[in-house]
Amino acid sequence: APATAAALVEGLNPQQLAAVEHTGSPLLIVAGAGSGKTAVLTRRIAYALRTGRAHPGQILAITFTNKAAKEMVERITELVGPAARGMWISTFHSACVRILRREAKALGMKSNFTIYDSQDSLRLITQCVREAGLDSKKFTPRSLQHRISNLKNDLLTADDYASRAQENNPSEQALAEIYRRYSERLRLANAFDFDDLIMETVHLLDAFPDIAANYRARFAHILVDEYQDTNPAQYRLIRELAGADLPAPTAELTVVGDADQSIYAFRGATVRNIVEFEEDFPQARVILLEQNYRSTQNILSAANAVISHNDDRKDKRLWTDAGPGEPVTGWVAESEQAEARFITERIDTLMDSDSLTYGDFAVFYRTNAQSRAIEDALMRAGMPYKVVGGTRFYERKEIKDALAYLRVIANPDDDVNLRRILNVPKRSIGDRTEALVGALAERERMSFAAALDRAEEAPGLSSRSLGPITRFRELLADLRTTAEGAPVSRILESVLEQTGYLAELHRSTDPQDESRVDNLAELVAVAEDYGRTNPEGTLDEFLEQVSLSSDADQIPDQDVGEVTLMTLHTAKGLEFPVVFLTGLEDGTFPHQRSFNTSAELAEERRLAYVGLTRARQKLFLSRAETRSMWGQPTYNPPSRFLSELGDSLVDWESTGSLNTSGADRAFSGAWSPGSRSGGAGSPANGSGASGSRGGRRGGARAGTSPGGFPNRIRPNREVPQVEPGDKVSHDSFGLGTVVEVAGAGDKTVATVDFGSEGTKRLLMRYAPVEKI
Ligand code: ATP
Ligand code: MG
Repeated sequence: APATAAALVEGLNPQQLAAVEHTGSPLLIVAGAGSGKTAVLTRRIAYALRTGRAHPGQILAITFTNKAAKEMVERITELVGPAARGMWISTFHSACVRILRREAKALGMKSNFTIYDSQDSLRLITQCVREAGLDSKKFTPRSLQHRISNLKNDLLTADDYASRAQENNPSEQALAEIYRRYSERLRLANAFDFDDLIMETVHLLDAFPDIAANYRARFAHILVDEYQDTNPAQYRLIRELAGADLPAPTAELTVVGDADQSIYAFRGATVRNIVEFEEDFPQARVILLEQNYRSTQNILSAANAVISHNDDRKDKRLWTDAGPGEPVTGWVAESEQAEARFITERIDTLMDSDSLTYGDFAVFYRTNAQSRAIEDALMRAGMPYKVVGGTRFYERKEIKDALAYLRVIANPDDDVNLRRILNVPKRSIGDRTEALVGALAERERMSFAAALDRAEEAPGLSSRSLGPITRFRELLADLRTTAEGAPVSRILESVLEQTGYLAELHRSTDPQDESRVDNLAELVAVAEDYGRTNPEGTLDEFLEQVSLSSDADQIPDQDVGEVTLMTLHTAKGLEFPVVFLTGLEDGTFPHQRSFNTSAELAEERRLAYVGLTRARQKLFLSRAETRSMWGQPTYNPPSRFLSELGDSLVDWESTGSLNTSGADRAFSGAWSPGSRSGGAGSPANGSGASGSRGGRRGGARAGTSPGGFPNRIRPNREVPQVEPGDKVSHDSFGLGTVVEVAGAGDKTVATVDFGSEGTKRLLMRYAPVEKI
């Protein structure tokens, strides 16, 4: 039953209560980690709904990830019932896409526009560099991409920049030229890149007062979580939507954030927005929250100790009444492998003694590459885990190819994706043909697709080249016909078959191509899943969901029972009972790149603060004395964050085996005589801890690629009949157990638990599995 208004504010502390009840002026809630900022935002929405101050359609709430948005909707629905559904709770990007789809016409775009991810945009910029005849060694597409992105985050269009680029500065001139070409090509392709989503929405609201008025009339309540990580474009968007520049603002604005957790400066975020909120929004009320409800005092003291080394910050002291809790445990391992073994051993011990599940553990690292050693150890120990991020499924070649077909079906003008599939699979449309058609497009200032339709007019194109082009055009026309009104999974299957893409993979003898088939099968399963949960869902909507999905959306729910591995950046906003913060070495974390400026180092320190404050009950800090970098074992001194933490807050149970005192950086911290060491076993060095346990789960789940199963390509084979409980063997994932079966015949999708390889959904028709 929905909670009463009184129940909605139960248990809040006085500051939280004030934040929930406040009305009228803009509201800034600033507070350290775990003080209930997100919780208060959620309560505030529920309370406004429950007391009739707002109806769901008037709410716009911005979260940092899609997953956080989903959780907030669920929580509010729990509190006030399903009436909550009319709310807009989403990321900046999703909210903007929603607005742009409706209003595309005003911007001269079509509402079926494509969203280019960073890879797509890089391709397009590379084409522009080539066409402009620039030296791509001197002006690398990647750096141009980065600079264009920064300009967009500052709301500077190509025209704006062209007028301020200095004439005698070749680098600025090159940037201006490429930005201009790139913008024009995006427009012709009916595509937006990620940064456009925000910038173009701001321009839209700026340029069309009646459109802006509509949204302002609608959103009477605008709430933003993680405000410290907004960039100038997002800031302007909020101002526009809230009518902040009108004589009377149209929306009640609530933002929450923590300047100490600002970790996205490299994407243009600026703490300025939170620091200057009171100047930006006159009459703003500011509420500070200081009680932390997440962590024990020991964990908080550690976090406070590190962050207090940053200058230019408002000191705020978080406190908790949770008591001191367990000490923070430190561990020095001899290598990254030993560090990984330390993690699995502690998980094992804690699982035995406390009633924890695998889902209660998180392992953080600075960069994705560090996950490898930890994964190996978890796999060997037979512990289920999930790596968030890394090489993303949607970035694999075959997945991008298949999606490119879908995108071209949905948006015929999509330049980058059309060129991507022009000769994939091979159909004798060579680079020269592409260049000639491209030249025609440029000359006539039309999209590549339009030029392809008029390929006959391309100067220099031989009549022999026209045959394949004609067939390709027919293929696309056929696919578009098939696509009309069909479910996404059907469209995808037609693509894979009619284009010959799958057949080509099946013919290949390259073992990699087999896992490509697997991945495509998984994509079909994703599409089927989408069709099941969104019976009305369109191809456009499916593609949008794929485009906007981010690393953080893969974070498993904690009750799934998997250890979560992720980078510190991805950990923002989350909490876990037990946290391992790894790789605390100077050069690893803080990252070597940050040594140049104190601003970058300060950002690393905030990242450390984010990491430390994710832990609820138990925090482990570890470092490896040697770590291989580029294949070479490299010695790294302890992280300066450890010395900032000091001796008294960490219980070092291992102090390392190398004589570090002679190292380039003296460190008088953790293992100096007299520091508390000891603890169970207290091995003298990192390696002493390893191998001491047999890994009792080791055998059960091991065997990712059991020998004896040759790689086979099986076109047109019988679909294996399986049911829950059956054992199967998969050519790349090894042995697994069928958990669930859906569909029948050609459409059978089996959910299979491959142990440490994870649980996979396989389209049985394509998946290289055998029942055993
Ligand atoms: P972060 O800065 O990491 O985003 P936050 O300030 O958003 O943290 P929340 O995630 O909202 O903090 O809250 C931290 C934890 O404290 C959550 O588990 C939340 O349920 C709990 N919490 C918040 N307020 C209270 C309260 N008044 N009583 C009990 N628990 C609370
Ligand atoms: Mg939060």
